[in-house]
Amino acid sequence: MSEDIVDVRNVGMKYQSLNGEITAIQDISFSVKKGEFVSLVGPSGCGKSTLLSIISGLLKPSQGKVLIEGEEVLKTSEKVGYMLQKDYLFDWRTIYQNVILGLEIRRKLTPENKDYVIHLLQTYGLYEFKDKYPKQLSGGMRQRAALIRTLAVQPEILLLDEAFSALDYQTRLAVTEDIYSIIKNEGKTAIMVTHDIAESISMSDRVIVLTNRPAEIKSIHKIEFDCQKRTPLKCREAPNFREYFNNIWKELDVHV
Ligand code: ADP
Ligand code: MG
Repeated sequence: MSEDIVDVRNVGMKYQSLNGEITAIQDISFSVKKGEFVSLVGPSGCGKSTLLSIISGLLKPSQGKVLIEGEEVLKTSEKVGYMLQKDYLFDWRTIYQNVILGLEIRRKLTPENKDYVIHLLQTYGLYEFKDKYPKQLSGGMRQRAALIRTLAVQPEILLLDEAFSALDYQTRLAVTEDIYSIIKNEGKTAIMVTHDIAESISMSDRVIVLTNRPAEIKSIHKIEFDCQKRTPLKCREAPNFREYFNNIWKELDVHV
């Protein structure tokens, strides 16, 4: 639980556009320990998705580097699973066919891996729905299916980019509860991007606040609650939740 699994070192990113160069990220460094849940919060357009894409290996930084388990990230890796706002389930595939997609693409549809997928579907309440199509499921169930598809290839690290923001508030609370417990049960490390301060506090061990573009680290908040078995909803009710919220709110450059 103490070694660094992700190490972001002096990462900077410039985009070339028709109107010239845009600096999206400026010299960001932080590391994440195995099993840790870290959130990145920042104003919209500040560079959060860019940073996650760099960590995933989908984008190459203009400056600096990212290490995963001590190795420089040069391309996408099976150690990293990416979850986005939209669930990207295919409407014409059943839930089972959707969740095995990653394994299929990687030609890893072994009996053991199929068993693991069945285990995930059973444990997280989707087994009875495995032959249904995405349209027949609620938004929350679809998001869970998307997570199971991500977990099927057994990544060490999960990257979540505004993964819940398409859901209505009630569903969102329930889904974060589910997703959080799945991530913890499966012993994964998570880096989550969100602009929702409450969501970040309720799920994270640390919240990293980013500035307006170009994103730099403004502050890092260690989040601790003394509830018995931590869940996002319990954290929201904890007495010190408000205090974290107010501190982080003040630091986000939100101009209304
Ligand atoms: P966030 O996820 O925090 O909303 P993004 O990382 O998506 O922010 O984008 C950061 C900035 O970089 C934005 O100003 C955006 O317009 C710009 N940007 C993102 N992707 C590209 C791209 N492919 N080409 C040019 N500019 C981009
Ligand atoms: Mg984004």
